[in-house]
Amino acid sequence: MSADKTAESIFARRESRVRSYCRSFDAVFTQARGSVLTDSDGRDYIDFLAGCSSLNYGHNDPDMKAALVEHIASDGLTHGLDMYTAPKAAFLESFERLILKPRDMDHKVMMTGPTGTNAVEAAMKLARKVTGRETIVAFTNGFHGMTMGALAATGNAGKRAGGGMALHGVVRMPYEGAIEGVDSLAYLEAMLDNPSSGIDAPAAFLIEPVQGEGGLNAASPEFLRGLQRLARKHGALLILDDIQAGIGRAGSFFSFEGMGVEPDLVPLAKSLSGMGLPFAALLLKPELDIWKPAEHNGTFRGNQHAFVTARVALEKFWADDGFEREIGQKAALLTGRLEAMARVLPGARLKGRGMMQGIDVGSGERAAAICAECFRRGLIIETSGAGDEVVKVLAPLTTPVETLERGLDILASAIAQCAPQQTLAAE
Ligand SMILES: *Cc1c(COP(=O)(O)O)cnc(C)c1O
Repeated sequence: MSADKTAESIFARRESRVRSYCRSFDAVFTQARGSVLTDSDGRDYIDFLAGCSSLNYGHNDPDMKAALVEHIASDGLTHGLDMYTAPKAAFLESFERLILKPRDMDHKVMMTGPTGTNAVEAAMKLARKVTGRETIVAFTNGFHGMTMGALAATGNAGKRAGGGMALHGVVRMPYEGAIEGVDSLAYLEAMLDNPSSGIDAPAAFLIEPVQGEGGLNAASPEFLRGLQRLARKHGALLILDDIQAGIGRAGSFFSFEGMGVEPDLVPLAKSLSGMGLPFAALLLKPELDIWKPAEHNGTFRGNQHAFVTARVALEKFWADDGFEREIGQKAALLTGRLEAMARVLPGARLKGRGMMQGIDVGSGERAAAICAECFRRGLIIETSGAGDEVVKVLAPLTTPVETLERGLDILASAIAQCAPQQTLAAE
């Protein structure tokens, strides 16, 4: 069915033109379970978008759902400002025990507004407040959110144009490998070392260890360690935006684990709630916790329902290393299948790591054609990259292998169908 394109549909009539994903996936969805979405015609779609990595544990995990239903049925709080509540205590206790302590992280947890951009905004404000400096170094192709501060750090020209005013306080540097033959780290170091480079001493470096929207570029451990060294040398903070790459997506709970980096600030959102509920937080080193009470505020800080489901997610998936091993096995399967698909397309190459991998298919047009063909065949999948040239697989981490294979079969058929000879013939 054509939900959106029908002139009389309520969406076309009343919903703002700013709507976006629905334009690629023109169906009215009614139900979702695990890795499968169902539309109003009863048709099933395998979900390789997973709410842009907000649904790492799939749709409606039965244990999270049961805990939430029980919480609501027993008149547990829905809204509590940032008051002390039982669900917040339980979440923080699990987060400390299962995530922070085993990783030797002494970070405090700041509840921010409920979306990722709120956590990034808080990180940028705090870095500026702590250092007394304005400039934040962000990187090419970075994506950090849509509010004015985070938008200033976002590279995408189309997104930046939406703001309607100058975006201040951010200097851009090349991400690792952004410019062929240029050592981005050496370049950054030279710029910072030169007092006449025109770059003010920065408050922070803000970077995604794997760029979710910007084309699945993955920074090496050496690059991230180098950034940390430069940050310390120049009195700047290191902010690792783990909103998309974190919570297991890149293979471990934090995408930077085992790399020898200790970020000062870590914005988290997307899959933090476990169930797709709006919930964001900022991890901060204790010595940076210099906010005055309510100096950064917000009505919706700490979503009570999300505390409930997030705690279940932590206890269910992160109490031992079983889930991480499972992600590793699926990621290896994904790499093997994507390598085979890339061979069909001249010049295609693999991007990303863990369960955030994809194929650079050479052009945004081809990537769009592949995703559209996937949708016709019952698979929801999106693009990434400066020119939307990367077909990006973001399957829930809990996707059963059989479903993962079925989705990848669809992707392989779509890629074969959109391979150059057909594309040329069609033109
Ligand atoms: C999605 C995303 C954000 C913004 O999160 P919202 O919830 O959309 O505000 C910030 N940084 C990264 C890396 C993201 O992927």
